[in-house]
Amino acid sequence: MERYTGKSILKGIAIGKILFYSREEQVVQRRSITDPEAELARYEKARETAIEQLQALYEKALKEVGEVNAAIFEVHAMMLEDDDFNDSVKNIIEFQKLNAEYAVAATGDNFSRMFAKMDDEYMQARSADVKDIAERVVGILHGRRDGKDPGDEPVILAAKDLAPSETVQMDKSKLLGFVTELGSANSHTAILARTMNIPALIGIHVGPEMDGLMAVIDGIAGELILNPDADTLKAYREKQQEELRQRELLQQLKNKEDVTLDGKHIKLYANIGSVGDTAKVLANDADGIGLFRSEFLYLEKSDYPTEEEQFQAYKTVAETMAGKKVIIRTLDIGADKQVDYFQMDKEENPAMGYRAIRICLDRTEIFKTQLRALLRASAYGNLSVMYPMIISVKEVRQIKAIVEEVRSELAEKGIPMGEIEQGIMIETPAAVLISDLLAKEVDFFSIGTNDLTQYTLAIDRQNAKLDSIYDAHHPAVLRAIQMVIENGHKGGCWVGICGELGADTTLTETFLKMGIDELSVTPAAVLPIRKIIRETDLREEG
Ligand code: PEP
Ligand code: MG
Repeated sequence: MERYTGKSILKGIAIGKILFYSREEQVVQRRSITDPEAELARYEKARETAIEQLQALYEKALKEVGEVNAAIFEVHAMMLEDDDFNDSVKNIIEFQKLNAEYAVAATGDNFSRMFAKMDDEYMQARSADVKDIAERVVGILHGRRDGKDPGDEPVILAAKDLAPSETVQMDKSKLLGFVTELGSANSHTAILARTMNIPALIGIHVGPEMDGLMAVIDGIAGELILNPDADTLKAYREKQQEELRQRELLQQLKNKEDVTLDGKHIKLYANIGSVGDTAKVLANDADGIGLFRSEFLYLEKSDYPTEEEQFQAYKTVAETMAGKKVIIRTLDIGADKQVDYFQMDKEENPAMGYRAIRICLDRTEIFKTQLRALLRASAYGNLSVMYPMIISVKEVRQIKAIVEEVRSELAEKGIPMGEIEQGIMIETPAAVLISDLLAKEVDFFSIGTNDLTQYTLAIDRQNAKLDSIYDAHHPAVLRAIQMVIENGHKGGCWVGICGELGADTTLTETFLKMGIDELSVTPAAVLPIRKIIRETDLREEG
């Protein structure tokens, strides 16, 4: 049994086997080989393993989801028997003397492109399948136990580092927790772990030797325990049960109002990063969505999401929330949220660089596509829109002019739209200092304390070395919040907090006393905050 100490980003307990994930392994290298026979044998073995896996998946799916849905695995297995596919892989290995991984990946790409160009819709749909099977075989060649899938058993993922784009693409139902060596507590990967409500530790040395080992994440002590002995495991299972009991107790607060003892109603909303997260919002009984980080729709994809794709996503969330408020934040990429297809230059100082609204106001075609999708979706629920990284009144006026332009274009075409509230995120000191002026321009403010702390304290939120001094409780941050609330109210805006600080239960009472109108928090924090709101009396003390 070994213990490692790191920094916890969610105070829970996870127990399970480790799956080591290496980004380098996912990248297919092109290598010359000297022994094509041996390479062909490697390919043959991997191909057979893949077929066996697919047959097992078929059998399992047949029992669980029926023949129609299971058929896909049979189709995949058949593709691996296809002569054209196999000949192409073998030719690359034999005649170009290149490694099997490269031969499979290149064949997969070629076939996938060829299918995508076909007129027949059925054949076009096979384009994704052929890529999928190539990835499975490459995964097996890379030595992953079961190819592309982590397997059926949920795992604790261990990785050197995880980018937000990698985290969003993970199958959350198979993740018990994760452990990374790099990364900071305020990064978006950490925020995603909180949204998923899975225990996570950072700052722990990880390596392939951990793969397959039994482990415990103790998010309270910030420890990873490898190969726990029977007594330790038993103790942690009991703690986990206790955690569950506590969570059950909070369930009693469902369907209760978010109102203080003296009758002040608070809007208690939740933050999401994907359409799928809406289920967590409902399960935790939040009264709305106070921050939909729409950029994750872009991070999940390898090309710009179309207007239609975005429209469907926003419409689904609006409809699922059935009249409850849904605030969608427009695209906020840049800094740690990098999207390859945007082809952005490398910057010295990306957190203070070309990001968020700056990109939208520069590349207006991207912004207008998103606004069209949002305005169209507004006909299907109670949508609001907010804009990130604002620093000036000029920007807000520019945004409003673009919104009006898009709205008139849609109206001319007779497309139905709802009324939307427009707000801005207050996450720069500039926005705080001119919040009196900004309040006259918009309907609401949502304070982004993650960035506001970063810029107020001049501490890079991505830098793990500075985690200990990244202090969101710093009086400068708290004074900034107070000032924004006062200026917002004077200018007729309601004011909320959607940064991680909003979920800090040690400050809930302080925020309520400051006059906050809304708190938007990670879904799992909704009920704990509700408990405090309902126990707070704003009449106490002077
Ligand atoms: C914030 O900065 O507080 C915020 C909510 O936005 P993000 O964390 O996505 O930058
Ligand atoms: Mg921010």
